[in-house]
Amino acid sequence: MGHTVVVVPTSTMLRRAARRRCPVCGHGGLFRHWVRMAPTCPHCGLRFRRIDGHWLGSWFLNVCVAQTVVVAILVVGVALTYPDPPIAALAAVDAGAAVLVPLGFFPFSRTLWVAIDLAMRPLDFHDGVAPGFELEHWPDAGLGAPAGR
Ligand SMILES: [Zn+2]
Repeated sequence: MGHTVVVVPTSTMLRRAARRRCPVCGHGGLFRHWVRMAPTCPHCGLRFRRIDGHWLGSWFLNVCVAQTVVVAILVVGVALTYPDPPIAALAAVDAGAAVLVPLGFFPFSRTLWVAIDLAMRPLDFHDGVAPGFELEHWPDAGLGAPAGR
C-alpha cells in the first residue's frame, strides 16, 4: 500500500553517503554551500528531512565524531610528549578541532545520517522518490517490489 522496497544495500548507501552523495540514487550536488543542503535530491526526489527532528541524528553523529577527534588529539598529544605535555598548545589545538571538525564533517553527517535512517526505516512512498528510482541500478530486484507501483 504505497510502500516501496529499498533494494540498495546498506553498504552501498553508506559508501555513497561517505562521498556526500544521495544514498538512494548516488547522485551528488546535494549541497549548495558546504553547510547548505538541498531539501530534496535533485535526481531522485528523496526528501532528506524524513520526519520532524530528523537532523537530531546527524547532529548527534557530528558531536560524536568531533568529541572522538578532540579526545584523540589529547590522548595522542599527551602520549607523544609525556612526561611534559604542552598543555596550553594541546588545549589550543583541541579548541580549534572542536570548531573545525563539526564544520568539516557537517555535510557528511547529513548524508550519512540519511543512509543510516534509510537502513533502519526503509524508503516509504512519502519520501518523494520518483517511482522506479529505488530499483534503477538493481535490475534483479523486481522480485521484491510490490505490484502496481
Ligand atoms: Zn537521490
